[in-house]
Amino acid sequence: MFSEALQNAMNEQIKNELYSAYLYLGMSAHFEAGSLPGFAKWTRMQANEEREHAMKFYDFIVDRGGRVDLRAIEAPPKSFGSPLEVFKMVLEHERKVTGMIHKLYEMALKESDYPSQVMLHWFIDEQVEEEKSAGMIVDQLQMVEDHQTAMINLDHQVGKRE
Ligand code: MG
Repeated sequence: MFSEALQNAMNEQIKNELYSAYLYLGMSAHFEAGSLPGFAKWTRMQANEEREHAMKFYDFIVDRGGRVDLRAIEAPPKSFGSPLEVFKMVLEHERKVTGMIHKLYEMALKESDYPSQVMLHWFIDEQVEEEKSAGMIVDQLQMVEDHQTAMINLDHQVGKRE
């Protein structure tokens, strides 16, 4: 049984994932304007991934015979800080998303909704990766601090994301 409550929570998560995409796109535009194309590429690719996450929930709702409900997406911040501040925001955001995914999983457990549990396993693993990669970039940015040459090198390295 695919409950109304879980369906509603997954529709809300479609919105949350699309907001993530919007947030990363805002960060990407910020890096483009600041001539840091590597960080711009990383955050842009991240935005694309978030849209895919939204579509995973979308397709799952459809496959379970539910009804997709698209909700209003908030605008992301208009301005961002230094690369370190931005990636700290990325890490904090991903931790928040992890909490959302875990809440969905708890619901699926309580309702003995096994298909939802299996589907959410992918997201639980994904969040471990998201926090790991954001955390690593935060650590490296902390090493770089205000050294401009090192920042350009790190931008280049982060931009190697495939
Ligand atoms: Mg996501």
